[in-house]
Amino acid sequence: MTDLNPTLQPIFDEILARNPGETEFHQATRELLDSMGPVVRRHPEYTDAAIIRRICEPERQIIFRVPWVDDAGQVQLNRGFRVEFNSALGPYKGGLRFHPSVYLGIVKFLGFEQIFKNALTGMPIGGGKGGSDFDPKGRSDAEVMRFCQSFMTELYRHIGEYTDVPAGDIGVGGREIGYLFGQYKRITNRYESGVLTGKGIGWGGSLVRTEATGYGTVYFANEILKARKSSFEGKTVVISGSGNVAIYAAEKAIELGATVVACSDSSGYVVDEKGLDLALLKDVKEVRRERLSAYADERESARFVAGSPTTSVWDVPCDIALPCATQNELDGDHALALVRNGCTVVAEGANMPCTPDAVKVLTEAGVAFAPGKAANAGGVATSALEMQQNASRDSWSFAHTEERLEQIMVGIHARCLETADAYGVPGNYVAGANIAGFIQVADAMLALGV
Ligand code: GLU
Repeated sequence: MTDLNPTLQPIFDEILARNPGETEFHQATRELLDSMGPVVRRHPEYTDAAIIRRICEPERQIIFRVPWVDDAGQVQLNRGFRVEFNSALGPYKGGLRFHPSVYLGIVKFLGFEQIFKNALTGMPIGGGKGGSDFDPKGRSDAEVMRFCQSFMTELYRHIGEYTDVPAGDIGVGGREIGYLFGQYKRITNRYESGVLTGKGIGWGGSLVRTEATGYGTVYFANEILKARKSSFEGKTVVISGSGNVAIYAAEKAIELGATVVACSDSSGYVVDEKGLDLALLKDVKEVRRERLSAYADERESARFVAGSPTTSVWDVPCDIALPCATQNELDGDHALALVRNGCTVVAEGANMPCTPDAVKVLTEAGVAFAPGKAANAGGVATSALEMQQNASRDSWSFAHTEERLEQIMVGIHARCLETADAYGVPGNYVAGANIAGFIQVADAMLALGV
């Protein structure tokens, strides 16, 4: 971490004091402030209007009780969150995460990232995030349904097509969005398609939404490679995670000629020298919802390595690494292993999967590093395309929607590089993404007044 300049240090001190114990939120705000030096020097008007201080404070934070009845008839209790962070560019937009690690600090870090990510897409969407400490793992369909219904019984009063539009994130996929949408419709008596994205194709969803985050991350990495006169053709790729983002990142990387040799889940990782068999991976993770060892049991060329503090998927040599699991999953030691093994590009499919140490190691070693708020923006961008289709009561073809997604990712890549150049940090995707996203939101906030 660099020292902050004298304008920014008191702002960070204030963030630490106002948000005690929220380490992920501190990390995300610090990472933005680290890029803001050249911005505050060039734009005193932002400091005059306290834009950075205001942008770091959510517009609204909602915390609520989520009681529900399990299959044994016992009453269970969870906590629900929705942080409506910034609405300068449009209705709050961002996913819901159901995972036992969820607490206010995680929701705020995710909501904060979402502001700048959403701005970078060029679509009219503000930033927000929500979720619960509910753990869907091992829960029956009926339990997940009852939980979602209870969650929406409070959330419905805070959301709406023009107000706040949630979607999925870790632990929230098509099944959960269905139960949430059903309950919203039941309570409000409105078929308000634009209130949630990630809906099923038959009831207001968009083609490509499922694939979008993973595909978009690979499109972004492909632009990095093109800028270096290279491509995915013949490259080896390692991906962490085996959820929605990881699976479709693998699919697109394979389509572009790469071999994906490893992926992981919370139990460990598989190495498959012949390249991942995507049909089998989808069957194990999406249909059967089993652990990754089941993949290795059924495929001769693959071996499963149980996770441990000393081994990780990042030990597997690769040209391109795509962290697509969760925050802070790739640390400084993992980054050193990647560098030692010749990795040249790291693009984040997850939100903030690389620790600040890892980013430092990668950047100093000359590895091209693309932060999640740029590289994984394809998911939320396609959510905005879903909102567009809902608003016009239309549905687009797969090819048309994918073309729009690709254009958006190519545009974000170009904007990151142009902005980094213009602010004296050429080639730095972190600074480029932070500055470009920030300026768009800051200018809107200035225009809209205090
Ligand atoms: N959860 C996704 C993200 O981190 C998508 C959010 C959305 O589609 O609203 O960007």
